[in-house]
Amino acid sequence: MAEQLSFTVLTLFPDIIKSYMSSSILGRATESGVIGLDVIDIRDFSENKHNRVDDYPYGGGAGMVMEPGPVMSACERAKGLHPDKKSRLIYLSPIGRPFTQEIAKELAREESLIFLCGHYEGIDERALTAEVDDYISLGDFVLTGGELPALAVMDAVSRLIPGVLNNDESAGEESFENGLLEYPQYTRPEDFKGAKVPEVLLSGHHANIDLWRLAMSLLRTHEYRPDMLEGFILEKLRRRALLKYIKDNDLFSEEDREIIRNILNA
Ligand code: SAM
Repeated sequence: MAEQLSFTVLTLFPDIIKSYMSSSILGRATESGVIGLDVIDIRDFSENKHNRVDDYPYGGGAGMVMEPGPVMSACERAKGLHPDKKSRLIYLSPIGRPFTQEIAKELAREESLIFLCGHYEGIDERALTAEVDDYISLGDFVLTGGELPALAVMDAVSRLIPGVLNNDESAGEESFENGLLEYPQYTRPEDFKGAKVPEVLLSGHHANIDLWRLAMSLLRTHEYRPDMLEGFILEKLRRRALLKYIKDNDLFSEEDREIIRNILNA
């Protein structure tokens, strides 16, 4: 299959990126060429004989700052790797937009993504101003480097590229895809040390399985991410079928029924 998207990672720790990206599903995708991967070591662009790429911050303060020269040279090298493709250069940083499934979908539509991983106290602002198109954060916490965030973004984006997942790994009914968290999953054995798989899943009754899963998604989202339920609307027929299903079914406690009725404004 032809290459669908190319990743280029600029880092001081190429082995971290290569190791993760050569394992499991992403390893298969890069091996088969569906996803392109280039890893550039920023240290190769050091401008001094000791191979240093960082220096003390002007104005004082703790830690070191990555120098603009090596970072900009590495960015220019990355941009030159795929001159035929439109590329977006992303700096992973706590100041960026918080990463979400929606952003993963947006990035999956690009042809070439370049990830700049900072280290130490970060990167000289002049290099960022000159080179960066987009800032993405993995969340409201501070990591030692941008490698984990870059891997997280590449992982989430890759799963959305046609040809990366096979049927058994399909990205169809995941958390966030329909605005809800995913329902609980079970596999064999049917009875694990006394804990049984919910009977409806063994029934072969697809309509009921679908309604049970929807009810569980609603209950889980209510418990763990109630913010996601704001403005949630269910299509009319499905809403009616779900209300009837939970009313008739003793799998649900009165409290669960009440929660679902509240979510559906019933
Ligand atoms: N001084 C920076 C600040 O306060 O925003 C933090 C620098 S951090 C110790 C080193 C590097 O890790 C950053 O340059 C960035 O690339 C990466 N990093 C740390 N936390 C991150 C996060 N939540 N999301 C994305 N990248 C992060």
